[in-house]
Amino acid sequence: MKTTDPFAESLNNPKSFTLTYELVPGQGAGGKKVDRLLEFARRAREDGRITALSVTDNAGGHPALAPIAIGAEIQKIGLEPLIHFSLKDKNRNQIESHLFLYQRQKFRHLLVLGGDFPKPTYYGQAKPVYDLDTIQTIALVELIKTGHYRQMKEDEICNHPFDFQCGCVVSPFKMTEAEQVWQYAKLLKKIRAGAQFIITQLGYDLSKYENLIRFLRQEHITIPVLANVFIPSPAVAKFMARGGVPGVILPKKMAELMQNEDKKQRLLRAAGMIAVLRDIGFSGIHLGGNGLSFDDVRFVLDKAEQIQGADLQSARENAHFPIRGIWSLYKNNTGRQQKPHPGAKPGCRPLHHLMHRLLFSRTNPVSRAFGRFCRFCDQYHTTRLMLTGCEKIIKGLLFGCRMCGDCTLSENTYLCPQSGCPKKLVNGPCGGSRNMACEVFPDHLCFYVQEYCRLDPKTTLHKLGSEPTLPPKDWALEQSSSWINYFQGRDHTGGNF
Ligand code: SF4
Repeated sequence: MKTTDPFAESLNNPKSFTLTYELVPGQGAGGKKVDRLLEFARRAREDGRITALSVTDNAGGHPALAPIAIGAEIQKIGLEPLIHFSLKDKNRNQIESHLFLYQRQKFRHLLVLGGDFPKPTYYGQAKPVYDLDTIQTIALVELIKTGHYRQMKEDEICNHPFDFQCGCVVSPFKMTEAEQVWQYAKLLKKIRAGAQFIITQLGYDLSKYENLIRFLRQEHITIPVLANVFIPSPAVAKFMARGGVPGVILPKKMAELMQNEDKKQRLLRAAGMIAVLRDIGFSGIHLGGNGLSFDDVRFVLDKAEQIQGADLQSARENAHFPIRGIWSLYKNNTGRQQKPHPGAKPGCRPLHHLMHRLLFSRTNPVSRAFGRFCRFCDQYHTTRLMLTGCEKIIKGLLFGCRMCGDCTLSENTYLCPQSGCPKKLVNGPCGGSRNMACEVFPDHLCFYVQEYCRLDPKTTLHKLGSEPTLPPKDWALEQSSSWINYFQGRDHTGGNF
């Protein structure tokens, strides 16, 4: 088994331009689709420019061949697999179990992502999991790595280290201020948790790629960042332009143009895009597409290498599809009124904040008395039940509370993520929203857009990104009183109030 890691070496070498390609397993264990993926891997290995092949994990929310199957075959071929580690289908035990499995398999690179909401399959829609979010998962990997959690016993240790390199995803293509600011703020948290490389969402507005590089430089972030260059077929481009893929924005103009183009024109555009993104300052490219053979990809890479100097300008004109009305981090280039900004719609937040400070602050005598009352009620079954019932009614009416037992209302502008966000995310949004609408319920505003409008008006992106990460919920507390849990130190505050 090889011990060198060309993908990590390339990522860690600032002079090299890293290339990865995304493989999407289908809904079966074998057949022509799998044969095509493996043939692609063999050809990529011979060519030598692609250092890792990423393998999706139930892409689009559909069940598919697990990435470990294709990953193991890629490894045998002699290429590095980059396994997508999607959290929609895994609870924390399954996450750890998969980490051990991947360690045994000597997989070294994971792309940690929330994943698209499950789509209907056997007897309807699968129950989405999202037990840990991306930040919490990256933090878990780091904790296991450093031995601060789950120190392996002598007879459990694998003969190679638990040493995953976790990547994360960011979208620089969000339409509105609230969504974009959240994306960057969450990126800061993922990096703080231990993410070691970044892959962008796919997009075709090159100025947004520039914004990302500028943002990373401004924040002195030096971890490698790969731009996602996706070459859709004309039919898939149409589907994406209609909003068919969560979080993906493909301008209608581009989809229309593509209907009259042949494959060579599409490949040449991608080649130009790679050259421009390299010039912008990306450390590499994460390439993908529908129905591409390795010959197509080789053509794209060959052409991209030839585009330099004066050719870059025309390549840029051919590949740049600005999105009308999109908000920009660095200039208001659209003239479109952007509604959400922190503090735009505070709702009842100030009142709830006042109540919270009165009842749940160590320095407040009312809070101390309430704490004594809660601790008293916790001593007896009947009083505990009565207080829990009271909390259920009051918070159910006010916040749509689901009685998770570990309340994060004060950290989420007094909106409840358990009832407001279908993925129940507590540390920032997923990447699936579209023009402020939720990925899962497009008729609803994304929970985090609502939260953004209620933030203190002085909140900056940087402040949002430096907020402490909320830990995973302890589901043993479900249906118990969060008031009691708070004063007994059983919730995420651990008694530090
Ligand atoms: S509410 Fe926002 S964060 Fe939650 S699933 Fe919908 S788009 Fe994602």
